[in-house]
Formats: sequence, C-alpha cells, structure tokens
Amino acid sequence: MSVETKTTCPYCGVGCGVIASVDDHGKVSVKGDPEHPANYGRLCSKGSALAETIDLDGRVLYPEILGQRASWDVALDLVATRFSETIAEQGPDSVAFYVSGQLLTEDYYVANKLMKGFIGSANIDTNSRLCMSSSVAGHRRAFGSDTVPGTYEDIELADLVILTGSNLAWCHPVIYQRLAAAKVARPGMKVVVIDPRRTMTSDIADLHLAIRPDGDVALFMGLLAQLAQSAAINQNFIALHTEGFPDAFAEASALSFSDLLDKTGLPAMQLREFFRLFVTTEKVVTCYSQGVNQSSSGTDKVNAIINCHLATGRIGRPGMGPFSLTGQPNAMGGREVGGLANMLAAHMAIENAEDRDRVQRFWNAPTIAERPGLKAVDMFRAVADGRIKALWIMATNPVVSMPDADAVEAAIKACPFVVVSDVLKETDTTRHAHVLLPSLGWGEKDGTVTNSERRISRQREYLPAPGDAKPDWWQMAEVGRRMGFAEAFAFGSAADIFAEHAALSSFENDGSRDFDIGAYAQIAIRDYDTLSPFQWPQPAGSLLQMTRFFAEGGFFHPDRKARFVPVKPPISDRTNADFPFTLNTGRIRDQWHTMTRTGKSARLSAHIAEPFAEIHPRDAVEIGVGDASLVEIESPHGKVIVRALVTERQARGSLFVPMHWNDQFAAKARIDVVVTPLTDPVSGQPASKNVAVAARPF
Ligand code: SF4
Repeated sequence: MSVETKTTCPYCGVGCGVIASVDDHGKVSVKGDPEHPANYGRLCSKGSALAETIDLDGRVLYPEILGQRASWDVALDLVATRFSETIAEQGPDSVAFYVSGQLLTEDYYVANKLMKGFIGSANIDTNSRLCMSSSVAGHRRAFGSDTVPGTYEDIELADLVILTGSNLAWCHPVIYQRLAAAKVARPGMKVVVIDPRRTMTSDIADLHLAIRPDGDVALFMGLLAQLAQSAAINQNFIALHTEGFPDAFAEASALSFSDLLDKTGLPAMQLREFFRLFVTTEKVVTCYSQGVNQSSSGTDKVNAIINCHLATGRIGRPGMGPFSLTGQPNAMGGREVGGLANMLAAHMAIENAEDRDRVQRFWNAPTIAERPGLKAVDMFRAVADGRIKALWIMATNPVVSMPDADAVEAAIKACPFVVVSDVLKETDTTRHAHVLLPSLGWGEKDGTVTNSERRISRQREYLPAPGDAKPDWWQMAEVGRRMGFAEAFAFGSAADIFAEHAALSSFENDGSRDFDIGAYAQIAIRDYDTLSPFQWPQPAGSLLQMTRFFAEGGFFHPDRKARFVPVKPPISDRTNADFPFTLNTGRIRDQWHTMTRTGKSARLSAHIAEPFAEIHPRDAVEIGVGDASLVEIESPHGKVIVRALVTERQARGSLFVPMHWNDQFAAKARIDVVVTPLTDPVSGQPASKNVAVAARPF
C-alpha cells in the first residue's frame, strides 16, 4: 500500500506538480500531478528521475566544525558568536549571506528578515542574480514592479510564439511539451526561435534567427521602428497607459536597416519575415530566458522586448505579452520576499523610505538596511578584498557556478569565517566551510515555491529527516535567536513563516502594490498543509486570483503608467586576436546546475556523459581539433579541457560549453573558471553567454 504526497519538482522554474509515492518497503516513485496547472501530469526527464537522486550517499548528516562532528548547539553558538563579533567590530556590512533559488520561500523570508531587519545590512544576494535579475530590473523599469504579466496558458493561446535566448526544449521541457502540443492542435500557430545556436528548440521553429551574440537589442529596436509605421501600433494604449514612446521610437528609428543587418548578423529576408509575422499577428507571446538575461545588456534586451508589446498593447490579454521564463524552481519566491540585495520583502523597494519604514514597523525590527547591498559578483569581490569577513552560503555551489570561479574559490578560502548549509558533504564549496550545517533535501523539507507564472505551490515533506539535518529556515532562526532576536525568530514551522510573509504582503496595502496575498495572512496550519497551487495576487478577503496584468494599464509607477525605455545596441563582439572565439555557456537536457543531485542518476548521466564544447566543422579544421578529441579553452581567467563536439548546429566563431560539470565529475571542466565577471550595469547579472576565449587542441 503506497502513501502518496502531492509536491512540486525542485528543478526548474516551470514548477511542475509531482505525486511522490512511498511503498511498504520505503521505495519512492514519482509521477506528474494531473491536477497541477503547470504541467497537468507531464514531467520531463529530470522530474521523472527524482526518485533516483534522493538516496543518502554523500549526505552531510551532522553539523561539522572544521571537519569534526559537532552538536547543533555548539555549531549554532559558534555561527551566532562569530557573526555578532564581526558586526560589532567591523559593522553590519562586513557580513554577507549568499543564498539560492533552491531555497523555499520560507527559508528566503527568514534569511532576508535576519539580514535586512536585524543585522541591518542588505548584503544578501542569491544565485538567482545569475539567472533572472535582468528580468527583474527590466520589469521594474517598464512596469514599476517586478510583475510577470501573463500565464503559461498564453503560450498555448498565442498565434505567434517568439522564443528568444531560450532553449525551451531542454531548459523548460514541460512548457516546450505544452507548446508543441498546441502547435499540433493548431497548425497555423507560428514559432520563431532567436538563438545563435541551432538547438533542439529550433526543430519546432517556423523561423530560426541565428542572431549574433547580444544582437537582440538591435533586433527589437528594429521591430519597434517597424511597428510604429504599421497598423499594429496601438496609439490608444500608448496614450492612455504609457510614457516615453517618442524617445524610445527616436532611438529605434535612428538605426538604419544596414545597421540592423550588421548588429544582428541576420539576412535581410529573415529580418523582414520576422517583422512581418509580428506586425500581422495580434496574439504574440515573446518568451525569453538566459540568452537574454545573462548579458551585459540583459536589462536593455528585456526592455527592448517589452517596448514592442507596449507599443502594440499586446500585454495582459489571452495569448499576448512578454514572458520571462525563470530558471530556478523558486527564483520567483525569493523575489517575493526580497531575496535580492536590491529589494525589500513583498516587492517593496529598498530605495523607498516609506517602504523601509513599513517593513521595519511590521517586523518590529531594531534597524533596516538603508541602501542596496552587494550583488553576487561584487559580494565575492568584497570577500576577496577583505571587506566581507563572515559569509554564510546556503544551498548553492559558487565555486562551480560563479564567473571567474577560481577567483571566487580563492576568496572563499581566504575568508576568515565561512558557514555552508547544504545537503551534501563534499562539494567544491563545502570543502572550504569552517562550519558545515546539514540541511533537509527535497522530500524532507516543507514550504512553498513560486513558478514563472506567479503560481505558488507546496513542496511537502514525505521522507524522514536523515541524521540531524534541519530546515534552512530553522538554522537561520536559531542563529537569529542566539544573536539576541528571540521574539522575531520564534517560528515553529514553515506555516508560521508563510503566514507572516502573507501578513506582510497585505500590511498597509491598499491594492496599489502588486503583491497582496493577504487572504492567507490568517491561514490555519491545516489549510497550509492542504494548500492548492494558486497565482498571486490573491487580495485579502477574496477568492479571486488575478491571472493576467496590465490589459487595461494599471502599472505600478506612481502615475499607473508603463515606461518605454530608450535603449541602444551594445558592443557585442568581445573577441580579439588572442581570444578569437565567443563562448556561450548553458544547460543540457538531463542535468541540473552543478550536478550535485542529477549527477547521481545513471539514467540522466547517460544522455551526455561528459563535458563538451560544440564547435563548427570549419573552425575545428582551422584549429586542428578533431571530433571527440580534447580541446583546451582559455580566457584571461583560466582554462578548461573538454571533449570537442563538431557540429554545424554551432555558428562559426563560437563555442558552446555546458555549465554543469564540477570537479567531482570531471577534472578541469568547470567552465565558469574561464567566464569573465562582466555584469549588466543595471541588474548586476553576469554575461555568461558572450565570453572571448581561445581554443586549441589539448
Ligand atoms: Fe521539473 Fe522543470 Fe522538468 Fe517540470 S520541466 S519536471 S519543473 S525540471
């Protein structure tokens, strides 16, 4: 007799519902939840292999101090003492938390509360900075808030789906399955894929635009200029609901057609066909992901896309709108509770004195961070140069995933006090922990996540806690109590934390803020346990959920109007004689992040067994690299050695290397060692897809 539990997949931002079953012998199996609105029963290869990745091999089961087992009391006392002493001696900005889109919303809430309201610094950032912070910044510039306007259903309802910087088939596979099924049901639906590489996603495309790296800003500027001269322009929407169209249009129209061809690298016929499709199709959804976000012009790309949807009023109506596809399972939940260094909880702004005052009063906090903290790349620079003296890393592996990864490792190694909370004992990052704290993993922990369409779902506990492992929120609450803030961190359960989070979201909220789930402020623990997936906002006292935003305006700038953002095409070619290739990094279908979980599944590892570099056949001949031979890739920051995969899917002059491999699975294949820590000036997101490198036979 199996016991079934409804929960949520812990991998990507699609946020699929999963039913986990445990049989009489303790064997776990998983299947898709047919009632979950994200996936209606579908799962991808990673989700369906979840049961293969939850054994206890390699788990850290007890707190450790310098590699020796310790009790929770001793370990937590040490963490609290060292953080308190450092703050007393060097000030609140001398400590930092680096957290993760793998944390549950409740974990994120407690981390943010402790750092911003009780330590008094905003030095809390997250690996979501590497994932979607340009979307956050673009949303805030255009809408006045970080609000995703649409819903997954819009992708199925659209007559034209544009996928830019998104290998949907591999990175958001269930959305791809939904799109593919919709296209079969409605063969008139068109799909355009904009990507320098020919990926599995391109196979569904009616038009594939193999754009130059970072050519997207110019492409959507060209589109805006075309729209302005066409019947698709919605003058009524522009006049009633927006500001700034003339300036954005002036910039866009200053770009000549030959400039456009040059900046995008696209043939004129393809460019014209793309413009024609957008101009003549009312129901358009533009989905974008890391090819847009992970760029030194990522925020401008987001706004160039949004500008086109605002100009046509194609936003917030069924089958229409710009759509940011989030990478991680809970990057959105982290945003909601202020898990980024430049945000407050409940989508309030750290720069806004009234918002700071409101949050401080709600928390009854002794202080509140008054200015944005250090974003991920700057945070590790501050660790390197000694400004950060105590660092707590949770549920992430920056020694593999941060750009300039060797420099990040050296910084962590030299930091006077490093705490790591993780499920695994041996990762590239845990080996540098002074204090290693055992966290609960998927199936053991309890809380909520928010997916790319603002849908909040429960992750539920259905397995016993192994060893002495504890939830991340509990670890931080215990440290908060030991630092002298017992009352503020007296949480007994994840449900208590969610209730406080919901209450803060509706505190003094007259509806002018976008985030109001106040109906859940008085949630009973039994209701939290049975919570069905729902989209925020859910206004207090109402059972109505708002599925879409902005069809009739109602943006969140003070005048309730959206902003067109004038943008300029960036410098996109970073290559030179010494580093003549453009490196693009990204995901493969069957691995997740740094492989610490998916690497456990033989089935998932069978898809692609080792790290590789895709290279065009003519480039391979020119540098003397044969298919399946070893190739060394070098930048000013370091070198990696991977297998050459010679393929015409890769454009000339460029390489693609997956981001996943860590030192445990393949020596010298951490690709982020070579990635330059160049960031978008607005969002601080690193440019992981346009790195100048050299390549040679090894
Ligand atoms: Fe999990 Fe994403 Fe796959 Fe859904 S699409 S099963 S959330 S990895």
